Amino acid sequence: MELKICHLYPDVLNLYGDGGNIMCIQKRLIWRGLGAEVVRLPLGSKTSLAGFDIVFIGGGQDFEQQVLLEDLHRGRADEIRAAANDGVVFLTICGGYQMMGHYYETFDGKRCDFIGLLDLCTLGAKQRMIGNYKFRCTESAGGSVVVGFENHSGRTMLAPGLEPLGTVLAGFGNNGEDKTEGAHWKNVFGTYSHGPMLPKNPQFCDVLLATALERKYGRAALEPLDDAAESAAHDEMCFKI
Ligand code: GLN
Repeated sequence: MELKICHLYPDVLNLYGDGGNIMCIQKRLIWRGLGAEVVRLPLGSKTSLAGFDIVFIGGGQDFEQQVLLEDLHRGRADEIRAAANDGVVFLTICGGYQMMGHYYETFDGKRCDFIGLLDLCTLGAKQRMIGNYKFRCTESAGGSVVVGFENHSGRTMLAPGLEPLGTVLAGFGNNGEDKTEGAHWKNVFGTYSHGPMLPKNPQFCDVLLATALERKYGRAALEPLDDAAESAAHDEMCFKI
């Protein structure tokens, strides 16, 4: 069994070690004797999104989010919508997560019209939301406690029908007000968690892998791994936040 993984816009959306998520996905497959092919599709790449099992999109500053708009609306947005509707697993972080929604209006009034796949929008605020934080995933996203680092100006509001990824236990999450964090629709997962997120949240990584394997092969043969180091990192952060 093998998964084909896409790192979309690695040249413009890749903050605070986001690329480490790709390494984590790849390692946790290889350690189990499963195949993992990683393809990076930078801004302007003509390679189609068709055929990928997991698509990863990291975070970026307001400037980078504006820079990629032209490329996004020259076909990428259509491909992302098609893949997500087809059940491809997406992990999208911060700027990449905001991009899955309708729009992001920066604090200085610049509007980025995004993909509109997730029923959410984001408004920039003067005060940034910065710091280590933690949240509990919903049952449908595995129920684990995720620890991470957030740094965003955007306050994201989910439409009533859209399920959050989890509930904030400490920190800001989507907007610092309603205790929601991220969003989960079909197999699209959006979160504000940088860090990188997956190495210290192995349970959540395995939810993504199991979802992608089940979609592709009808079963997820995920043997347990020795997660002693990963769990120690997780628990240490969890305790301190
Ligand atoms: N520029 C966006 C914001 O400030 C996203 C930041 C990020 O990806 N860390 O909200």
